[in-house]
Amino acid sequence: MPARTPAGDHHAPAAPEGGHHALAAHEVVLLLETDTERGLTDEEAAARLTRYGPNVLPSAAGGGVLRRLLRQFHNPLIYVLVAAGVVTLLLAEYVDSAVIFGVVLVNAVVGFLQESRAEAALDALRAMVRTEARVLRAGRQRRVPSDDVVPGDLVLVEAGEKVPADLRLVRAAELRADESALTGESLPVRKDEVVVPAETPVADRRNLLYSGTLLTGGTAVGVAVATGAETELGRIHRLVGGARVLDTPLTVKLARFSRLLTVAILFLAAVTFAVGVARGENAGQTFTAAVALAVGAIPEGLPAAVTITLAIGVSRMARRRAVIRRLPAVETLGSTTVICTDKTGTLTENQMTVQLLWTPQGRYQVSGAGYAPSGDIRDAEGGPAPTGEAGPLRWSLLAGVGCNDARLDEQDGRWAVLGDPTEGAMLVVGAKVGLHAHEVAAELPRVDCVPFTSERQYMATLHDRRDGGRVVLVKGAVERVVEWSGAALRADGSTGPLDAAAVLAAAHELAAEGLRVLATAMRPAGPTGGLVEEELAGTLVFTGLHAMLDPPRAAAAAAVESCHRAGIDVKMITGDHLATATAIAARLGLLRTAPGPGDVLTGADLAALPPGELPAAVRQASVFARVSPEQKLRLVEALQADGQVVAMTGDGVNDAPALRQANIGVAMGRSGTEVAKEAADVVLTDDDFATIESAVSEGRGVFANLTKFITWTLPTNAAEGLVILVAIMLGSALPILPSQILWINMTTAVLLGLTLAFEPKEPEIMDRPPRDPRQPLLTVALVVRVLLVSALLVVGAWWLFEWELDGGASLAQARTAAVNLFVTVMAFYLFSCRSLTRSPWRLGLFSNGWLIVGVLAQALGQLALTYLPAMNDLFRTAPIGGEAWLRILGIAVVVSAIVALDKRFGRFGRRLG
Ligand code: ATP
Repeated sequence: MPARTPAGDHHAPAAPEGGHHALAAHEVVLLLETDTERGLTDEEAAARLTRYGPNVLPSAAGGGVLRRLLRQFHNPLIYVLVAAGVVTLLLAEYVDSAVIFGVVLVNAVVGFLQESRAEAALDALRAMVRTEARVLRAGRQRRVPSDDVVPGDLVLVEAGEKVPADLRLVRAAELRADESALTGESLPVRKDEVVVPAETPVADRRNLLYSGTLLTGGTAVGVAVATGAETELGRIHRLVGGARVLDTPLTVKLARFSRLLTVAILFLAAVTFAVGVARGENAGQTFTAAVALAVGAIPEGLPAAVTITLAIGVSRMARRRAVIRRLPAVETLGSTTVICTDKTGTLTENQMTVQLLWTPQGRYQVSGAGYAPSGDIRDAEGGPAPTGEAGPLRWSLLAGVGCNDARLDEQDGRWAVLGDPTEGAMLVVGAKVGLHAHEVAAELPRVDCVPFTSERQYMATLHDRRDGGRVVLVKGAVERVVEWSGAALRADGSTGPLDAAAVLAAAHELAAEGLRVLATAMRPAGPTGGLVEEELAGTLVFTGLHAMLDPPRAAAAAAVESCHRAGIDVKMITGDHLATATAIAARLGLLRTAPGPGDVLTGADLAALPPGELPAAVRQASVFARVSPEQKLRLVEALQADGQVVAMTGDGVNDAPALRQANIGVAMGRSGTEVAKEAADVVLTDDDFATIESAVSEGRGVFANLTKFITWTLPTNAAEGLVILVAIMLGSALPILPSQILWINMTTAVLLGLTLAFEPKEPEIMDRPPRDPRQPLLTVALVVRVLLVSALLVVGAWWLFEWELDGGASLAQARTAAVNLFVTVMAFYLFSCRSLTRSPWRLGLFSNGWLIVGVLAQALGQLALTYLPAMNDLFRTAPIGGEAWLRILGIAVVVSAIVALDKRFGRFGRRLG
């Protein structure tokens, strides 16, 4: 019987006795009724998709929900509340007890909903970064969403990709997989198609690729043997129930703060109780008062405010095309001090057009824009260029077209490049003079290839020639090709000496205009000549240079400027030529127009620096050219050693270590490999540098909003605790009852405080220096503000309470007035907390609609509390008159004025932001 999956009614195909790894590849192919040449037919694939279900992991089971709900109660502050609720129940204070339990419940539900929302948002974001799989169906290679892979599919994978399903390898070349997601083993393991014994443990089954693991090298074809929940990853997923960490440095700090606060509050409550009893007061009542103190002083809304603010930050960033993969990134983004960014594709469009060609015979201008192969090549006098002759220009173009893996594609009259844009540009310039890729391939069929990598900085191909010989074509970085060339091609097709200095000077001149320059070369070979990398050095015949334009992105310069204003250093890290990098950097405002020594460093400079001097050198330089991906890791480490918070971009497999090491790893959503995305904290869906800048400003916004909430909530809590403390110490009647305190806490936290999470980002948020991540939660400025506002509240409430009593009001009325005063002052103070630096008037009253709705709802709540008989009974309140309301508003205005003065002139008030 086939096993049932827990996800639904789908059946998995029966696995063979000893496992797929113990069978030969062709047996597995037979077993799964597929075909190594043609794959499944479309009909069969569709039928299997219905039978076995989509290739997705089931979402976390219901157990997770209960656990998440229970987790809401796991908080020392809540323990105190529950204990208080139980004791008041025993004391037969039923209303207080019911209100306390009500608060605990509301709190848990709000926390639960917020957390679910945050998780759902993260899940949705993950879905935005969709992965595709390449499969062979009906004899053709197809790209399908990885959800559609079915058992029996022939899947093609290569370095940089994530394995979409469990695959039994059929063919593999140089394959290495990073299986840490599954086994925890971080070193890549070698994989091939060889049969292994049935008893081999999972981690050693070298002929299986596991779903969710990453390929760090090689290429392969495999048959999907298990999909979705049936994969090894699916099994593990079921075991751990998909637990996810939502902790961030701030939530950790807050948790520590709550523990401290609990101890302090319990201590104060105990002292209050002891003092009350010592004065001979009723133990029951004193206890209730002590509970009121504890309950009032606990900032119940804090955890919910944190999750909701972070969740809002995540969705705001997603709207600006930055997808957060790990929640702490939201926060860390806000304190970024250095952004290290790639050039090609991030600061530039990555849309290349060859504009100039250079050979030792001359310089040639290319006309036409974009990828459409229209335009031509002219010499310096405007005459037609000698592309038909067997000289260097023709061979340079042939190398560009023949030594090339990209494809030009026309759809509805629009031309696009499939593959590397640098190569696309070279195809286009060839096609402009009739050297079309398919014709070149027919004329010079390719027999071997050394693919391009960033480390090699060149690509070489071996071709058969009609005359029976062979030829090697090479293109790559100028320095590399010139170094390996022993001669240059002459106009008549013969070889002559190479003037390396002239070539390098020409390349430098072109690069200084911001053009990306690649050199080409060739080498005739005998009929059986092979392509051996080591033999290329010194034997190449230089043919020419291709200089291409890659325009800077429209928004990049402004984003760089904004970063600089915000105290964030921007460093360009590129594999490109020093002069090209310098020119582009100057155009983007990354460099002064006349860069000084040390502003620009090359990979070679970095390698030569002693480790001790590295941090200072790296701090000073803004452009790093000809840097290899391995050096990116050293750069990140050097910057971190210098105390910086580093964001680093990357797209390739080799960038993963640097992305992981950086405080914020930023992967490219379009051009990035799965390996890079997996290692990153943030994925840019548009690959644009400006998006990083937006994400940083949103990150700062999140932190500012959290600070606003804390600045708002702590004074209420402190004041509520203090009012009770003072009453007990003085031995007078409580101006506010415990149940009333709970009313204030809960309603204001939800209706007033939480609306601060929706506060729009302040425009000048990018005018300040980055926040120091080591900054404590309670800064001096914040403590001063909390003390000031809570003192004003306590004095105001006491004064009003006494005034009302003196004026003949009942105790219930005086208390109702005090409660309304508390809430009114908190509502006024809310407007002040909307900005940490600016006065509320300058923000625009209606720029946060939620806040207005919240204030109105709170006002209705207060009217109900004051005038509805049922509420009067429940909370022991009583209707108050118009004059009392005038006094309340008067005090609220006075308090607001004092806070505004402190904000404007106070030594500490201004430093809150
Ligand atoms: P960045 O690191 O900003 O993305 P980059 O794209 O220039 O810059 P690499 O892709 O590492 O960085 O390229 C390094 C150098 O290798 C280039 O400057 C170019 O001279 C050469 N090069 C780039 N692409 C190819 C290619 N497809 N074939 C041959 N050589 C190439």
